[in-house]
Amino acid sequence: MSLSITSINGQKVRFGAGLRNDICAELSELESEKALVLSTPEQADMAMELATVIGDRASGVFTRATMHTPVDVTEEAVEHARSIQADSLVAIGGGSTIGLGKAIALRTGLPQIAIPTTYAGSEATPILGQTKNGIKSTLTDQSVLPRAILYDPELVASLPTAMTVNSALNAMAHAAEALYAKDRTDQTTELAINGLDAFAAGLPKVVADPGDLKAREDTQHGAWACGTVLGQVGMALHHKLCHTLGGSFNLPHAETHAIVLPHAIAYNAAGVPDLLAPVSQALDGTEPGQALWNFAKAMGAPMALKGLGLSETDLDRATEIALSNPYWNPQPVTADGLRTLLHNAWAGNAPGR
Ligand code: NAD
Repeated sequence: MSLSITSINGQKVRFGAGLRNDICAELSELESEKALVLSTPEQADMAMELATVIGDRASGVFTRATMHTPVDVTEEAVEHARSIQADSLVAIGGGSTIGLGKAIALRTGLPQIAIPTTYAGSEATPILGQTKNGIKSTLTDQSVLPRAILYDPELVASLPTAMTVNSALNAMAHAAEALYAKDRTDQTTELAINGLDAFAAGLPKVVADPGDLKAREDTQHGAWACGTVLGQVGMALHHKLCHTLGGSFNLPHAETHAIVLPHAIAYNAAGVPDLLAPVSQALDGTEPGQALWNFAKAMGAPMALKGLGLSETDLDRATEIALSNPYWNPQPVTADGLRTLLHNAWAGNAPGR
């Protein structure tokens, strides 16, 4: 059975096993006759299968989507889209593929349909990150928001368990920080709580049985809620810290988020415990940071930054860099507090030790 909703950001959002096979109905709504299908090289087979389902209405397949949306790849894809006179874009994949769709849409105005295969949530935001000469910049523009999203649990079922867990914790990080965002509303708080609840209930079932399509669909509801809320409010300490660690020490994106989240939330829970209470309510009832740490551990997530190759001698520099660019946070960010936070995340300690 499939569910269809109109999201608060105006997107048409559908959930259901096998929904990818309904892609032509969505193309008809866009009056599209020449769709360009996008994927990463690793998911080229998925893209080719989708192009077969689309049949005569598929005018091409571009399978070179790349992490962090490099501008040179986008320019090549735009050229390809123009050469085949594409009149719509269908992105099947994770945040990298959806990012490419957004980048092409920004330059061509083509409408997009997103078929996500991870929990990253980019499909539900008007945000686009792009990289030029190794420097990443981010913009927000309603023209990059896909018109429709098809969440098909059969597609996310092939996501390996470790990636599933990291991707889910990544999504939960958006919801957790949305709870205390300066620009939050009752509606964004409700979405954030829905996202946390969906992952708290669904992820343990997915980890126990990766092919459980009902649980996969529940987690996709979580991905939609967490992604949508990311597009509505600003982020704080957790995201800034992960940005520092990723940019300055070249740590992998999803794993870094998974490790830092319990520590950043424990830090902010000291200032805004009431706003973060839904985290504890969704998980095991203890303090929000501890609850996230217990949940991540039980799901088999990586727990220590030292396991990603960060050395203990890097922690002072990481603290310095993270403090050098002040930003809004619900709790004042101090050098001592940040250094302790980073040490705990580095060592794999429970938060707040
Ligand atoms: P990804 O899209 O880079 O995918 C990682 C790898 O997993 C790729 O090789 C991909 O082909 C493969 N993969 C994806 N789904 C699979 C599946 N179901 N089965 C097997 N393999 C699969 O990873 P991601 O975490 O989804 O996206 C990360 C990117 O998205 C980052 O660049 C991040 O900045 C961006 N992002 C953007 C937003 C936004 O709102 N703009 C939000 C979240 C993430």
